[in-house]
Amino acid sequence: MAEHSSGGHILNGCEKVCYRGRIAPSPTGFLHAGHARTFWIAQERARANSGVLVFRNEDLDPARSRPEFVEAMIEDLHWFGVEWQEGPDVGGPFAPYTQSQRIAFYREAFDRLRAANVVYPCQCTRKEVLSALQAPQAGDDEPIYPGTCRPGSGKETSLTTVSGRITWRFQVADGQEVAFEDGCCGPQAFVAGKDFGDFVVWRHDNLPSYQLAVVVDDAAMRMTEVVRGEDLLRSTARQLLLYRALQWTPPKFYHCPLVKDSSGMRLAKRHDALSLRTLREDGESAATLRRRLFA
Ligand code: GLU
Repeated sequence: MAEHSSGGHILNGCEKVCYRGRIAPSPTGFLHAGHARTFWIAQERARANSGVLVFRNEDLDPARSRPEFVEAMIEDLHWFGVEWQEGPDVGGPFAPYTQSQRIAFYREAFDRLRAANVVYPCQCTRKEVLSALQAPQAGDDEPIYPGTCRPGSGKETSLTTVSGRITWRFQVADGQEVAFEDGCCGPQAFVAGKDFGDFVVWRHDNLPSYQLAVVVDDAAMRMTEVVRGEDLLRSTARQLLLYRALQWTPPKFYHCPLVKDSSGMRLAKRHDALSLRTLREDGESAATLRRRLFA
């Protein structure tokens, strides 16, 4: 993929810098009120900037993604009042908008990372990584890698003798600070080796990781701003390292506060009570839900 700058392209009638935002749900369950709130904000920001909103179907997890949830996401978001100008259902200049159909793009970026020598193969299982940890990391899905297979550790994975399945990790520089200005949360700073470790870019099941796929797609689809939940702030720090390594200009970021339930827990797809489906079936109107979410 060619390098690009995120400004100045002429698309969909935008003559100057065209704002391009996206919503990127995963079809692993019904969307809930928290998704609706974040996606509404994404739509508002695209509208306020006379921009384009893209819908991307992030269906890279084969074990959890289901086609019926793709249909449900589209239907429920339309019900809620979110409209997009590009997406799997409407097409657009950067199709396909479904991640499982974009593996060649991810492969190309991964090959560039390999050529740049910033990734290394790892044979550790998730269980081994977890058991090597001093303390669990709160609020993050990827545990800090203890460095077992890091180049120079003496236990590196040699590709000639490797047996079993390999994960590829991006090697971070311990102690390096990754700072950025978030449009909603203000100045952010995370430290490599402390807030996150060597993170997976290519999974043992021969698929790209979320971090790699999202960077490749946001760059390829010419996003100028990424609006998403604040649970992904730490992921943004990792993604900025990938932008740097791939020599791509990152978009701006705007991380929204998460919606919590009455006991203060953040909503998750497994908690059905506040799914858009259930709210709809219970007779809630989209307008009432919007009022409640933005009260
Ligand atoms: N697909 C991710 C999710 O549903 C969000 C990705 C993103 O916005 O960067 O959690």
